[in-house]
Amino acid sequence: MAEYIPVPLFKAAEQFAKLPGIGMKTAHRLAYHVLSLPEETVEEFTSAIFTARKTVRFCEKCQNFTALQEDESPAEQETVICPLCIDEKRNFKIICVVESPRDVSVFERGGGFNGVYHVLHGLLSPMNGISPEDIRIRELMERLSGEVDEVIMATNPTVEGEATATYIGRLVKTIGVKTTRLAYGLPVGAALEFADDVTLTRALENRNEI
Ligand SMILES: [Zn+2]
Repeated sequence: MAEYIPVPLFKAAEQFAKLPGIGMKTAHRLAYHVLSLPEETVEEFTSAIFTARKTVRFCEKCQNFTALQEDESPAEQETVICPLCIDEKRNFKIICVVESPRDVSVFERGGGFNGVYHVLHGLLSPMNGISPEDIRIRELMERLSGEVDEVIMATNPTVEGEATATYIGRLVKTIGVKTTRLAYGLPVGAALEFADDVTLTRALENRNEI
């Protein structure tokens, strides 16, 4: 027996179902929920999503996500630099290499690091077909042509994290830049985001050359 659903409601459910982890059943529940919201709330919701998609770019230096300034012209919008990469209070000679934007937030929350970051957007994983060209290693190497004293490999202490740290460490060493690895302290096999601030700061202070 076919269930009667108005077409716009069905279409809304279809859109929700495109999101990761949302099955058709949940998508329908969300679509029905939208009907119970005031129109302004729904407008805020859709506009926030659209604005995020439209204005967030990769920082051309650290590759982290950053938002365009509203007053920037389209021409200027092609090259975007995030607030951290233009903050003169930071030490541009030390680059902390992390897997994801979330890791940058973790270090910033800890407050123990004053250098700059480089976000790889992934880890090497031959098993899953992720090779050096698939993550932002080339962009990192391009940054090292300037005055950089040290690269800190701050990938998670997992198999992929270690393999990535070793691979990049060797590459960076060939151009004569010191490479270090976070000391642990950090629980092996766990993600950085679950480390408490003290553990993270200590790991940073006691990093080892690789
Ligand atoms: Zn940046």
